[in-house]
Amino acid sequence: MIGVCSCGSPLLARYELDEVRAGLSKGEVAGRAPDLWRYHELLPVRDVANVVSLGEGMTPLVGLPRYGRELGVDRLLMKDEGLIPTGTFKARGAAVGVSRAREVGVQKIAMPTNGNAGSAWATYAARAGMEALIAMPIAAPEICRREVSVVGAELHLIDGLIGDAGAFVREQLATRGGYQDVSTLKEPYRIEGKKTMGLEIAEQLGWKLPDVILYPTGGGVGIIGIWKALNELAELVWVDGPLPRLVAVQSTGCAPIVKAWEKGAPESEPWPDAQTVAFGITVPKALGDFLVLQAIAETGGCAVAVDDADILAAQRRCAELEGAFICPEGAANFAAIAQLREFGWIKQSDQVVALNTGTGLKYPETVPL
Ligand SMILES: *Cc1c(COP(=O)(O)O)cnc(C)c1O
Repeated sequence: MIGVCSCGSPLLARYELDEVRAGLSKGEVAGRAPDLWRYHELLPVRDVANVVSLGEGMTPLVGLPRYGRELGVDRLLMKDEGLIPTGTFKARGAAVGVSRAREVGVQKIAMPTNGNAGSAWATYAARAGMEALIAMPIAAPEICRREVSVVGAELHLIDGLIGDAGAFVREQLATRGGYQDVSTLKEPYRIEGKKTMGLEIAEQLGWKLPDVILYPTGGGVGIIGIWKALNELAELVWVDGPLPRLVAVQSTGCAPIVKAWEKGAPESEPWPDAQTVAFGITVPKALGDFLVLQAIAETGGCAVAVDDADILAAQRRCAELEGAFICPEGAANFAAIAQLREFGWIKQSDQVVALNTGTGLKYPETVPL
């Protein structure tokens, strides 16, 4: 099990893509079970016996014609990660990360989390028969605490933000042996799981890429993963043409990557007093910020910040117009689309995919009665 590079930077898995190209066809993938393991040649788990699965992946890519009309986007689609075990896309990273950890003999994992990653990793650790130590801010959604608790993981509530939870985990690991640190980008396999969102979008669109993909960005693993997936597909020559313009969406209450993007800086600075209703994207300083900035620069994308009030209004509008109760992080994308339409950065004729990263059912308190 390798964590980070000796220089401290994140590691990315690389594949023998020539071999994959020679041995695998799109048609063969099409006939496989509808979960993320259908792309196993592009995933790090070598022996299927090590796969820890709850059926994750192949979430619906649904059209949003009524909301699209209101926003002035003719072809608006939502990839709905609300329909996945534990209710957020974090299950993808956890499924692949825990599977690979099992393959290399890990028995105990530890991580800081804003909530959803902790729920997912604790759940998949239980499925694998592994122990899990989870540290989360005391302000994290209560449901995430209960999810960690019900599967019997060790839960620590931290009076602070995710960075403080990270410091706590490091302290614990310094004195307790046998744990693998699976913090965001402190191991290379979580991103491989998240990458499957990009593979699925391409496959679900008949291996034709959309014009724009929006992603609510916290630690950045999701957007980096999608970028990595699209590059691998281009190298396999399974897709062609320009890659979609990737948009990193943040809240004005915590927008370090947007600020760095606007300044043209190669990495972000820690955001003071970070706070937003979109709890999953409250990450004041992401380890992979430079990769997010590179992903949006190389695809001709951008970074946008939206207000909490606009996020909550978008959450309601999506539910009213499309019958979809999405999480506030996912709703942030639609507030961003409204802004980008106003500037003309998104055109009416663009095909736009917004990632709804989780179900609104995990955030009942965001809806007033
Ligand atoms: C973690 C999370 C995000 C942010 O994902 P990153 O990959 O860390 O950028 C977005 N939405 C939800 C619901 C999350 O739980």
